[in-house]
Amino acid sequence: MADFSDLLLDVARVRRDFPILDREVHGKPLVYLDNAATSQTPRQVIEVFDAYYRGYNANIHRGLHTLADEATAAFEGTRETVRAFINAGEAREIVFTRGTTEAINLVANSWGRANLGPGDEVLISRLEHHSNIVPWQLLASELGIVIKVIPVDERGVLDQAAYRDLIGERTKLVAVNHVSNAFGTINPVAEMARVAHEHGARILIDGAQAAPHQRVDVRDIDADFYAFSGHKVYGPTGVGVLYGKAELLEAMPPWQGGGEMIKTVSFETPTTFAAIPHKFEAGTPAIAEVIALGRALQWVGEIGMELISAWEARLLQHASEGVETIDGLRILGTAPDKAGVLSFVVDGAHSQDIGLLIDQLGVAIRTGHHCAQPLLSSFGVDATCRASFAAYNTPEEVDIFVEGLERVVGMLR
Ligand code: PLP
Repeated sequence: MADFSDLLLDVARVRRDFPILDREVHGKPLVYLDNAATSQTPRQVIEVFDAYYRGYNANIHRGLHTLADEATAAFEGTRETVRAFINAGEAREIVFTRGTTEAINLVANSWGRANLGPGDEVLISRLEHHSNIVPWQLLASELGIVIKVIPVDERGVLDQAAYRDLIGERTKLVAVNHVSNAFGTINPVAEMARVAHEHGARILIDGAQAAPHQRVDVRDIDADFYAFSGHKVYGPTGVGVLYGKAELLEAMPPWQGGGEMIKTVSFETPTTFAAIPHKFEAGTPAIAEVIALGRALQWVGEIGMELISAWEARLLQHASEGVETIDGLRILGTAPDKAGVLSFVVDGAHSQDIGLLIDQLGVAIRTGHHCAQPLLSSFGVDATCRASFAAYNTPEEVDIFVEGLERVVGMLR
């Protein structure tokens, strides 16, 4: 039995915040290990929706009535919560989006169109999620920019020497993830930012898998842009964050037009735009979701991010040791610096079948390409099984997963 007693996380207390963890799946207690796709939501966050729709549902910014004031204060208050969560310098550097995907598309379509031309290079990596690949491909075919790809080694670690070789005077942007969703690799983004800036390039960091699992300090990293999603950090779907340095956001053109993002609109003179961040928030945003995201980040603060990171690292270690004894199982992603993601394939057993059968035991893992097809194909596979951990997972759940996996693999071979 793994000993977690030196860690101060009271996991039983943490679990009491998550009503969904009480449910059963196929008559078995739910063991939810698909946190890299979406984390579960604590009742404190769920309660925000109830309080909002029962108490102060109103459109923000434009109203002069009490409900609109209350909704605006809660919405804008969340900007400050997010600022503190990632240690940005100013709340106006926080733009609310629908998620990481939209945040990256915002940078591609606004900053990219204003700053990139034929022959300019965008440097991404083989570890990227499709949402940090496809927006650049769409732009490449239109603007004639060149996408270059930093390779990974057999552990799933980005080749930093190759990075330094690939970056050059034509590189305008480096766009990499902080933590790989497929393999869990933690990338040295502060060092990569330093190299990017040395070459006069900007750096965009996809923090979708980092923000939920480790302390993020965008100023320490010196990120030009940093993106993450609410639903992976104990918050709701439909909301995410783009952090951008104020001077960059100020210089960028709007990317969507509509209400909220203008100063004046006229048919006679050019339309003028609102200051940042509102210039990038056209239309009615996901008000309740944003407020709920703020509560989720507070919840993380109440538990303690350092404790969550340490807990998840121990769960990962326990799970990795547990599955090692399964004959024919190969872990993909063995970087020394790894977040709580365990990706694996098993000889003679298709990942999809493993996922379906282990679900019968109440264990939710993800199978497939994890939106990282280029990465998986370079490892000669088109799918893996992935277990990923969160603050509410327990060593006992890891044991259920490992025993279940042994059974399922036995059935399939
Ligand atoms: N980037 C990474 C590393 C991810 O893991 C994900 C989601 O799995 C995304 C981007 C996309 O996030 P979203 O679908 O919330 O926009």
